[in-house]
Amino acid sequence: MNKILHQSWSADRSAELYGVNDWGVGYFSVSQDGLLTVTSENNGHKSEVPLLNIVQDIKERGMDVPVLVRFEDLLEQQIGRLNGAFNNAIASCGYKGKYRGVFPIKVNQQCHVIEEIAKVGAQYGHGLEAGSKPELIIALAHLESREALIVCNGYKDQEFIDLGLHACKMGYKCVFVIETPTELPIILARSRALKIKPLIGVRVKLASVVGGHWNATSGDRSIFGLSIAQVVEMIDTLKAEDMLDCLQLLHYHLGSQIPNIRDIRAGVTEACHVYIDLVREGANMQYIDLGGGLAVDYDGSKTNYVHSKNYTLDEYCTDIVDVVMNTLDLEGIDHPVIVTESGRATIAYSSVLLFNVLDVTNYTPSVVPEDKGESEHQLIRNLFYTLRNVTLKNLQECYNDAVYYRDEVRELFKRGQFGLRSRSTAENLFLLIMQRVLQVSDTAPREFQELDKLRELLSDIYYCNFSLFQSLPDVWAIDQIFPIAPIHRLTEQPTREAIIADITCDCDGKIDRFTNMHSTKTTIPLHPLVEGEEYYIGVFLVGAYQETLGDLHNLFGDTNVVSVRMHADGTYDFADEIEGDSIGDVLSYVEYQPNLLKERFRKIAEASVRDGNITAVERQEIMKAFSESMLGYTYYEK
Ligand SMILES: *Cc1c(COP(=O)(O)O)cnc(C)c1O
Repeated sequence: MNKILHQSWSADRSAELYGVNDWGVGYFSVSQDGLLTVTSENNGHKSEVPLLNIVQDIKERGMDVPVLVRFEDLLEQQIGRLNGAFNNAIASCGYKGKYRGVFPIKVNQQCHVIEEIAKVGAQYGHGLEAGSKPELIIALAHLESREALIVCNGYKDQEFIDLGLHACKMGYKCVFVIETPTELPIILARSRALKIKPLIGVRVKLASVVGGHWNATSGDRSIFGLSIAQVVEMIDTLKAEDMLDCLQLLHYHLGSQIPNIRDIRAGVTEACHVYIDLVREGANMQYIDLGGGLAVDYDGSKTNYVHSKNYTLDEYCTDIVDVVMNTLDLEGIDHPVIVTESGRATIAYSSVLLFNVLDVTNYTPSVVPEDKGESEHQLIRNLFYTLRNVTLKNLQECYNDAVYYRDEVRELFKRGQFGLRSRSTAENLFLLIMQRVLQVSDTAPREFQELDKLRELLSDIYYCNFSLFQSLPDVWAIDQIFPIAPIHRLTEQPTREAIIADITCDCDGKIDRFTNMHSTKTTIPLHPLVEGEEYYIGVFLVGAYQETLGDLHNLFGDTNVVSVRMHADGTYDFADEIEGDSIGDVLSYVEYQPNLLKERFRKIAEASVRDGNITAVERQEIMKAFSESMLGYTYYEK
């Protein structure tokens, strides 16, 4: 549907429309020439790169969209911001302990990401959190700083524990966090057998429950952690074994994406009291680990809405430091090292998914029906009448009438009493009436009730070159909302309202919820396609959780990935490139053997030659096309 055109559209208005300055936190902005850019700040030098340039550059190198672009600089800066904010809070409150962050590997396990975190984190003693044996192996092979923690959560079997104990002996600060009572006896037995003292932490179930999507992670019925009664039993076991000095860390995790700072304060307050009593019981407590939960403001609204957060990073850090200090000071207990396991907030900003639009379906009739007067069916005449009489005063009535007449037409059609061409006229008239209603209601001072429904009904479908299931699985699985915006043409007013469909031909493969201040909306404004020109869209803040949760639905594989390193002089290069899966790759993931497929197909082609359907030369061409497909990208290629 076409919107009213504003004379003075500008890049700034686009930035406002898509909320870029709100969710972009200084990393993303819109340049005056209408390009979405990424900004990196290196020692006071700002460099800014338009995403469109990156698309052009990868094309020149023979790759194409869809592509996941990782900005190493943004990851680095987020780790810097997190450590900086805690260190500032510690300094300004006069807190006597340190901050030691750990990155939970599960949030993005990609080798390049972990390498970068280990490298940049070294100066801050930033460690890693491992929730499984493979993740522990990653952590051990990457962390060189002995200051940094390795926090081991998750179920731990003997193999896991042996590896962790050996790591302790080598000087790693590798902490086993007890998640279930059954783990402790194995740790104690292996520790005796290997004669290595473990570092032990305990995960407690707090009574504090948080708001947001992950609230089941907190409270009495959360799956992980020990109840207070189990903690007491654990202390007794450790005392009996004369190993209470090994218990040094208290851990809790209230869930990811905690939108409300009040919940964060409540959680840390309760945890401090557990900590105090662990000290009193005689444990050699050193660390208080608050887990993850630091939220990302996906819609930029700065509220306690599930996709937002009502606090800044500085407020988060200051509140935590303040609560720990004041609660412990009252009891005269030494300040512990504060640990957080921020995954989402550390990595979300650094990845952007870019894709092109392949096609658009719109709901504007391509022909305006001609009124043939008396000779038309009464229902069609009624629709014509309604179309001519839409005014501000009778919007609701026109809307209701049009729906009624259209439904009548559809009923008659089902009974064979209304022809195909007449129905086509009626359907087109219906759409024209709806557009008219929408146009008129746009000028209305008060919102027309059915406005949202109408927008949705008339919105375009932009078919885009990506798989939701592979690249944005949380949109499908948990209704996650990511900021989305075109990466160019931002000096032009986007005049279409649209939803986005992927190319999986699954009816769930669509995005129809978009960020909007304080709420979500069902459509996104986009530009009309220009014949012969590509139109590129970016999905932002996708660095956390999406890559390995994605799947091979419809056998669309991994997209191309490039890691961009920006330099102070404004240039950048591709520090790393990973070609997306080829068709042969994805087929082998589901146990097909490309060579056998080729052989089977060759036999079929040979039979076709024998039957005289194709010539031997044609067979050669067909076989060539078949083999070449096997090497191709799973996404739409031009
Ligand atoms: C998932 C998880 C995290 C990461 O949480 P974010 O909200 O992404 O920071 C941290 N700790 C534990 C134990 C987790 O399970």
